[in-house]
Amino acid sequence: WRANFSVIQKETGFVNGLIVVLHDITEQEKIEMERREFVSNVSHELRTPLTTMRSYLEALADGAWKDENIAPTFLNVTRTETERMIRLVSDLLQLSRMDSREYELNTDFVDFVKFFDRIINRFEMSKSKEVEFIRELPDAPIYVEIDTDKITQVIDNIISNALKYSPDGGYIRFKLSTNDEQLLVEVTDTGMGIPPENVDRIFDRFYRVDKARARSMGGTGLGLAISREMINAHGGQIWATSVEGKGSSIFFTLPNNGDEGGEWD
Ligand code: ADP
Repeated sequence: WRANFSVIQKETGFVNGLIVVLHDITEQEKIEMERREFVSNVSHELRTPLTTMRSYLEALADGAWKDENIAPTFLNVTRTETERMIRLVSDLLQLSRMDSREYELNTDFVDFVKFFDRIINRFEMSKSKEVEFIRELPDAPIYVEIDTDKITQVIDNIISNALKYSPDGGYIRFKLSTNDEQLLVEVTDTGMGIPPENVDRIFDRFYRVDKARARSMGGTGLGLAISREMINAHGGQIWATSVEGKGSSIFFTLPNNGDEGGEWD
């Protein structure tokens, strides 16, 4: 059987149900199919930068190294491609560790409002685009038990995507809200958006709306897949909504530890 999940979401953004559609395909077949697709994706993702590097190195070896104008540019391309391959391999290792459940969450009680605010500050200080940051954060602390390194990585990934796919003059809105059981994090951008039929696939390994474009921006196509693993490991969910040409929102939930967290301040 193959199960497709759809999240049922209220207007407030909180998840209150799941629809499961079952397809007639054995679990074993599914695993085998996914494995083959994954290996093929990895091979392709590695071959692309390697063939690029080979042509630049060949050109250098054929004499371009003597040209003071061309040589640095060509070397720069090979360095950029190498760096992307290193990122890709690190991302793959991280996914493989999570798949084998070798890793444990290293949790702390933190005030999520302060934690989130600090990450936003870091991006606001270093952003190179004219994108306005709007914060809708509660005044009171919200205590949650999280692995701060892992959730930092998730938020970093969401914010860098929002910046990457935003035009100058746009804004990114950061919102936090809670109900009894969950903390809801929302990051909304005014970027290019995602076609509606693909919006759930952005959390799949190697899925990219525009492969060539995303690759040229240095992405590995694994960032959101890793984020989903990390949020699931925390007992939360992650999803996206988008209007093409208008912008996207990425949401994730974390179990809310409520007021009892006050003593950990
Ligand atoms: P990448 O390394 O390509 O950024 P991700 O897993 O982080 O990989 O994202 C997967 C794909 O989802 C991206 O290539 C892009 O097509 C799409 N995407 C993610 N976030 C956004 C966003 N904020 N706006 C538009 N598209 C997005």
